[in-house]
Amino acid sequence: MNLQTKIASAASEAADVLERLGVRQDLWTTGNRAVRSPITGEVIAHVHDASPEQVAAALDAAHTAFLAWRNVPAPRRGELVRLLGEELRAAKRDLGRLVTLEAGKIVSEAEGEVQEMIDICDYAVGLSRQLFGLTLATERPEHRMMETWHPLGVTGVITAFNFPVAVWSWNAALAFVCGDPVVWKPSEKTPLTALAVQALFKRAAARCPDAPEGLSAVIIGGRDVGEALVDSPKVPLISATGSTAMGRTVGPRVAARFGRALLELGGNNAAIMAPSADLDLTLRGVAFAAMGTAGQRCTTLRRLFVHESIYERFLPRLKAAYASAPVGDPREGSTLVGPLIDRMAFDGMRKALEAARATGGQVTGGEAVEIEACPDAAYVRPALVEMPTQAEIVLKETFAPILYVMRYRDLDEAIALNNAAPQGLSSSIFTNDLREAEAFTCASGSDCGIANVNIGPSGAEIGGAFGGEKETGGGREAGSDSWKAYMRRATNTVNYGRTLPLAQGVRFDL
Ligand code: NAD
Repeated sequence: MNLQTKIASAASEAADVLERLGVRQDLWTTGNRAVRSPITGEVIAHVHDASPEQVAAALDAAHTAFLAWRNVPAPRRGELVRLLGEELRAAKRDLGRLVTLEAGKIVSEAEGEVQEMIDICDYAVGLSRQLFGLTLATERPEHRMMETWHPLGVTGVITAFNFPVAVWSWNAALAFVCGDPVVWKPSEKTPLTALAVQALFKRAAARCPDAPEGLSAVIIGGRDVGEALVDSPKVPLISATGSTAMGRTVGPRVAARFGRALLELGGNNAAIMAPSADLDLTLRGVAFAAMGTAGQRCTTLRRLFVHESIYERFLPRLKAAYASAPVGDPREGSTLVGPLIDRMAFDGMRKALEAARATGGQVTGGEAVEIEACPDAAYVRPALVEMPTQAEIVLKETFAPILYVMRYRDLDEAIALNNAAPQGLSSSIFTNDLREAEAFTCASGSDCGIANVNIGPSGAEIGGAFGGEKETGGGREAGSDSWKAYMRRATNTVNYGRTLPLAQGVRFDL
C-alpha cells in the first residue's frame, strides 16, 4: 500500500528554505503564533500577528502608495509584475517546497501552484496593455461617449490555507497592473508562504523604480485581523477566499460600508458519468479530482453520479484505484495523497462518514493512517461512499477526501442532482455523446461557474474566469474580464461642438 510509517522532521528543512527565499529570520522565529507542518504536526516556526496599529499603518502606507501608483502608466505597472514573475521562476522549487512543508501538498502540486503564479504574472503583463474601454454611440451630434477604466484603490486579499500562494497571485498580479496596492491577510495556517512571497515581491520592487513603498503588505493573524481589513473604508475591494461561513460574515460587512466584495467560497462539486463515457479517462479524471490535494481543493470532486447501466462495471475499478493510491509524506515522489491540514480536518471527515453511514452510505476507506512519532499529523485513506440518495450530508462541503457515489437513470435527473447543492463552483460531465455534453453546458444545464466536459471539476487554468454561483459567492478571479473588479469604470461624454444639445431632446433655453 506504499504507506510510510516514519517521516523525517520538517522544521530544519523549513528553516533552510525560508533562508534561501530571503525571509528575515526574526519574522518567523520570535513571534507569538506557532506554525505547524501538516507533514509531521510539529511546530516549524513562530510568526508575529499584526497589531491593530500595524494593520492601520499598512493600510495608510498602501493608500499613500495608491496615490502614486495610479498615475504610473499601466504597461509600466506591468513591468513590476514581469519582474515578480522572474523572481517566482527563479524561486519555483523553493517556494513549492515551502508550500509542501506548510500546506502538505505533494511536490508536483506544490510546484504547480507556483507555476500558476508565474502564469498569472505573464497574463497580467499582457493585460497591462489591454485595460481597454469602449467607445459608445451617442445620440448627440459632435459628441463622443466612451468608458474609461481607472485604478480603484487598495485591494484587501484574504486567503485560505489550501492555495496558500496562488490565490494571492490571481488577485495581486491583476490588482498591481490595474493600479491597486494589495494588503494580504493569509490563512493563519499558512503564514510562512505569505512571508516568502512578500520577500520575493520586495526583490522585484527593488528592481522597479516606479514601485512605491507600501504597494504590497502582509498582515498575519486570525479572524480579528481579517475583520480589520474588511471594515476599513480605505479598502474599496475585499477579495476573500475561504469557507461559505466566512463569506456570510465578510459579504454583509463589506456591503454595509458600500465596499466591493469578491467572494470565492466553498464548493461541493459533482461529476456525471454518462453511459458513453470513456472508462479509462473517467477513472483518471475522477481519481485526480477526488483524491488530489487530499480532497482539500475548493474544486475537489465530492459527488459522482454514475449511470445505472455502467455502475457495476465502473465501481470496482474506482474502488481499486482508491485502495492503491499511495498515502504518505508529500515530499516523497511516489506519494499521491499527502496529509490533511490538521487533526480538526480529520475530525470533520470522521463525523461526515458517520452521518453518511447513518443514512445508508457504504463506506470504503476513510480510516486514519497513523505515522510513528507524529500524533499531531492527520493522514487518511481517501473514502469512497456509495449512497442510496443525495442525503443532507452529501450536500455539505466536508473539506477532506470523501467521494459520494450515486446512481442515476436519465440525464435530466443527473443535472437536477448536480444543481441541488447550495454551492455552485465546479462541475463536469464525462460523455462521448455530443447532445449530452451540450445539454450539460447549456442554459438549463449545470448551474455552476465552471462546467467541464471530459475533464474533472478541479485543476482550472488561469486564462478563464474562476469562481462560482450561489453559496460559492459569485466572484470571478484570474482570466477573461475578471480584471474589471479591480478598477472603477467612468463614462465620459465629450462635447466637441459649439452648441449644447441635451440628451433625450430636453430643452432648457435661458
Ligand atoms: P476559512 O474560511 O476558515 O478561512 C479563510 C480565510 O478567512 C482565513 O484567512 C481566515 O483567517 C479568514 N477569516 C475567517 N473568518 C473571517 C472573518 N470573519 N473576517 C475576515 N476574515 C476571516 O477557510 P479555510 O479552512 O482556510 O479554507 C477552506 C475553505 O476555503 C473551503 O470551504 C474551500 O472550498 C474554500 N476555498 C474556496 C476557494 C474558491 O476559489 N472558491 C479557493 C480555496 C478555498
